[in-house]
Amino acid sequence: MNWNMIGHEWAVQLLKQHVILGTQRQAYLITGPESVGRRTLALRFAQAVNCPQPIEPGEPCLDCPTCGQIERMVHPDLTVVEADRVGGQLKVDQIRGLQHGLSLAPYVAKYRIAILLRFEEANRQAANALLKTLEEPPPQVILMLTAGSADQLLPTIVSRCEVIRLRPISSGVIKEGLQTNWQVPPAEADLLTHLSSGRPGYTFQLYQNPANLSLRRTWLDELFNLLSANRVERFEYAETMAKDAKTLPEKLQVWLAFWRDVMLRSSNSSSQITNIDYQEIIDQLANNLGQKKAHNLVVVVEQIFDHLDHNVNPRLALEVFMLDLPKSEVSSST
Ligand SMILES: [Zn+2]
Repeated sequence: MNWNMIGHEWAVQLLKQHVILGTQRQAYLITGPESVGRRTLALRFAQAVNCPQPIEPGEPCLDCPTCGQIERMVHPDLTVVEADRVGGQLKVDQIRGLQHGLSLAPYVAKYRIAILLRFEEANRQAANALLKTLEEPPPQVILMLTAGSADQLLPTIVSRCEVIRLRPISSGVIKEGLQTNWQVPPAEADLLTHLSSGRPGYTFQLYQNPANLSLRRTWLDELFNLLSANRVERFEYAETMAKDAKTLPEKLQVWLAFWRDVMLRSSNSSSQITNIDYQEIIDQLANNLGQKKAHNLVVVVEQIFDHLDHNVNPRLALEVFMLDLPKSEVSSST
């Protein structure tokens, strides 16, 4: 009875108590890393508040039309506001549109719920506009904000919300959740758990889309090919890669996790690596490169991310990466 969520029991209990006692706040801020479960928690809370036939007080049925519409984010009393894309900008017009909707009484449910995702992406005007709503929230309205951390928002916004800080979940809990909630076989659950670094949302994405798993393999194979490629071939690859804005961040994320693993193994750390299915190659590279070079590659990939975050063309940073990439033949036996 954890709102069908993996982990975050304390947060579910806290919110459930608010629903049972009718002491729900007018605004919450759920923080934590991407895919840790911030949006799912907000949606479950919306279901707990509005489900007309809860299994028990505070426990939504997750089965009725209301619960279903909230889950799919199409319920008439639920509004989800976010930037046009991850890393984009949430604009003041979106807040004004939301405010108009919130000024009306709920259509069918008890509460109107607004979920504002990744609110750190709101620009100054949008944040100030929302502040007005937080200062004088209309009755029967609950605002749920999500963000990476509270420090990224205006203190005046944070102080008007009850802050719920979600942390990555232990791999044991995720693995158990995969096996009990979705009947994933143990070996697959093991791999998915390692790849998700404590973020059940990401685990679920991988599980739902096996194509993502095979994409990851393709991208790692491309990285291994680059290791034996010459400079011209590497630069050609960098040029094409820089133009592919859609897959670039995901591919970099896969590469970053890989080089972090190499760095971990080169420093003889006892921490678990992420890519457990590539352990041999990782050990091989860790031995060849040593800690300093492995660490440098992690830093260079993070710099490419920095460029992307600041809307700088990543091609130069990618070329630096290509130059720093060691010349090595890896035997991809996996
Ligand atoms: Zn329901």
